[in-house]
Amino acid sequence: MIAVLKPDATREQIDNLTAWFEKRGLNVQLSVGEISTVIGLIGDTSQIDVDLLEGLDIIESVKRITEPYKSANRKFHPDDTIVDIGGIKIGGGHFQLIAGPCSVESKDQIIGIAQSVKKSGATLLRGGAFKPRTSPYDFQGLKAEGIEFLLEAKELTGMPIVTEIMNTNHLPMFEQVDVIQVGARNMQNFEMLRELGKTDKPVLLKRGLANTITELLMSAEYIMAGGNKNVILCERGVRTFETQTRNTLDLSAVPILRELTHLPIVIDPSHATGIARVVKPMAMAAAAAGADGIMIEVHNDPVNALCDGAQSLTPEQFEDVAGMVRKIREVITA
Ligand code: PEP
Ligand code: MN
Repeated sequence: MIAVLKPDATREQIDNLTAWFEKRGLNVQLSVGEISTVIGLIGDTSQIDVDLLEGLDIIESVKRITEPYKSANRKFHPDDTIVDIGGIKIGGGHFQLIAGPCSVESKDQIIGIAQSVKKSGATLLRGGAFKPRTSPYDFQGLKAEGIEFLLEAKELTGMPIVTEIMNTNHLPMFEQVDVIQVGARNMQNFEMLRELGKTDKPVLLKRGLANTITELLMSAEYIMAGGNKNVILCERGVRTFETQTRNTLDLSAVPILRELTHLPIVIDPSHATGIARVVKPMAMAAAAAGADGIMIEVHNDPVNALCDGAQSLTPEQFEDVAGMVRKIREVITA
């Protein structure tokens, strides 16, 4: 971290600031120029509040050289992380298609969808049991029963399952769940992230509706700092001024995250667009951009779905999308 001091900074102020940094375990390198003085800070500056520094009378500007996230940072972990989900690998060249309904609605529904998406090439089964709905009057999910049905679908098809957690008190129910999803609305539920950091379960961390890429990485850091390195990032669209789509898919998050972090990157074109017919081109674009996985909502009867019907593909539409994604993967990995 570098701090540029104002030209009128006094010796006493500089000494006080230097002592303040040293008390925080930082090595201070002073470079006194003709016009201004620059302070170089060496050591772990992640605890330093840049806004606080910038507010000090003698500081002109502050610049971080290293990002405040360490475990998720590619600088300290150059090789891609490969997350192993019951033998199915994602990251480091391993690509996976995650598919299933927004919500588990019945045993027959989830088993039927699981069987058909598996046939089309999906490798992981998604389905919400605990649903974060905007309205408390909307369907909230089948909860524990939903997880039981997912486990039955897993048993029958062999597909590992991905489902969202909304309360860490529910963790015992997630014992046999393969990937725990942290939804967009909980991306900054730091207590939850810390609890998940104590487990060794793969976590699919979705980007918040109005969160930056750095904030997503800081949330990943919360999980990783607790010891759980099995984090998969998911871009699912962010809220912008555009109203034609449910959210705006930030596809540039793929190459940007690729540079910043070693963690696998998944794109969710369903929540990003909210429109079933837009899912296919965006899924193809995500594959072309080099995502490690794509998560798509698939429903046997979208018109009558209890949640997110408008963005859900039928199994037939999913088969078409999966085929196109496969072709694009062949091209970009050739
Ligand atoms: C979901 O995946 O069903 C979901 C609720 O997603 P998000 O948290 O991205 O809205
Ligand atoms: Mn949904």
